Amino acid sequence: MSRENFDKLGEECGVFGIYDFDGNDVASTIYYGLFALQHRGQESCGIAVSDTNGPKRNVTSQKGMGLCNEVFTPDSLQALKGDIGVGHVRYSTAGESVPENAQPLVLNYVKGTLGLAHNGNLINAIELREELEKTGAIFQTTIDSEVIAYHIARERVNTSSIEKAVARAMQKIKGAYSLIVMSPRKLIGARDPYGFKPLCIGKRDNAYVLASESCALDTIGAEFIRDVNPGEIVTITKDGIQSDCDLCIPKEKTARCIFEYIYFARPDSEIDGVGVYHSRIQAGRYLAQDSPVEADLVVGVPESGNAAALGYSLESGIPYGTAFVKNGYVGRTFIKPGQSSRESSVQIKLNVLKEAVKGKRVIMIDDSIVRGTTSDRIVKMLRDAGATEVHVRISSPPFLWPCYFGTDIPEREQLIAYNRSINEICEVIGADSLGYLGEERLSQMVQGLPICKGCFTGEYPMKPPTRDIRGNFER
Ligand code: SF4
Repeated sequence: MSRENFDKLGEECGVFGIYDFDGNDVASTIYYGLFALQHRGQESCGIAVSDTNGPKRNVTSQKGMGLCNEVFTPDSLQALKGDIGVGHVRYSTAGESVPENAQPLVLNYVKGTLGLAHNGNLINAIELREELEKTGAIFQTTIDSEVIAYHIARERVNTSSIEKAVARAMQKIKGAYSLIVMSPRKLIGARDPYGFKPLCIGKRDNAYVLASESCALDTIGAEFIRDVNPGEIVTITKDGIQSDCDLCIPKEKTARCIFEYIYFARPDSEIDGVGVYHSRIQAGRYLAQDSPVEADLVVGVPESGNAAALGYSLESGIPYGTAFVKNGYVGRTFIKPGQSSRESSVQIKLNVLKEAVKGKRVIMIDDSIVRGTTSDRIVKMLRDAGATEVHVRISSPPFLWPCYFGTDIPEREQLIAYNRSINEICEVIGADSLGYLGEERLSQMVQGLPICKGCFTGEYPMKPPTRDIRGNFER
């Protein structure tokens, strides 16, 4: 299901990398890893592979617009030969959904060829790009990932290893990034010091894997080893995994994007020791404690509202049920960015189970309301199906501020909660009552993990840029 069509936020990307020490081809494994990460980006995808025993410039890659199963075929995967590789799924922010910006980026430089996949946004990408352009760099894409790749390539010339070059580049780039870098003989994973975006390590037989989420490890039958720590660089070679934590900051200063737990990540993933499903159940429980209401049925707006709805039900004792049937076969034809298609697509994608809600007082749980363009329709659909009351509960606080770290939160003026009270929002969406998760509940739902909650509070873990960079790096 398209997030755009559902008044949902978009994640920037998902990354996946693998190094098979037995020399097996890895392209099809990357494909299935990306398939498991498809929820993190549906606009483009790509795979780049290399043979660690071959010449140092033997990277082959394929990228394209669309979902993994639209871009790759068995034959095209077969043509990607190599025992080390990196893959990427991309969700772009406004505009610039073009093939050139698909990843992984493949860069030839003096020491060989680099493949790079990136999830996140840099807050100083524009400055860094301008600096590089002044010294003659010519960019092929409009994404800030290329700025990172350039910096790594440049630093590599003056350092003794690729991991040191990554470390030096990380001293320059600021913002949110989970990176996978493929060099001719090494696979490197790195996470920004705040740990905004997830990245974990797995192992299958004699192959090491890096992935945005642990669900991708499960899909390919790899065992979860551990998360890459915020600020850590892991280097995977035939000698095993080496870790560099020079850029790590005290744990209490780290700041994972809380929206991974609320909405982005798949419920079967675990990030930094906290299960996504568990955190959503907890959010539902807190909602039941903090915003109780008498009702006959608790339902979730699929998919990410479901776990929170179950939590609400478990805590309140009100039965949990299914109210929505989703049409999972609506293809990309309907995925068009823009307000009008967003507004028209709800009924195409969701149907209400009339017999489940007829004559009932319903509590409807959703993970967030961004602009509010679909909430009123879903509430109306429940009423039209015979619900006598519709009480809306949201498993996150109201969005009030922009995000500079890779989430496409729209302008403040477009946010439904901007300049509106809860009662006013309730009126706009046509619900009988409305309750949001309290901001103080966010760290409780992830068992006290340090988090970023800037889009709710306006307080960011790092100083936001003085000019609004959102989207600019893509122009
Ligand atoms: S501002 Fe919000 S969406 Fe952006 S990283 Fe922080 S918690 Fe995530």
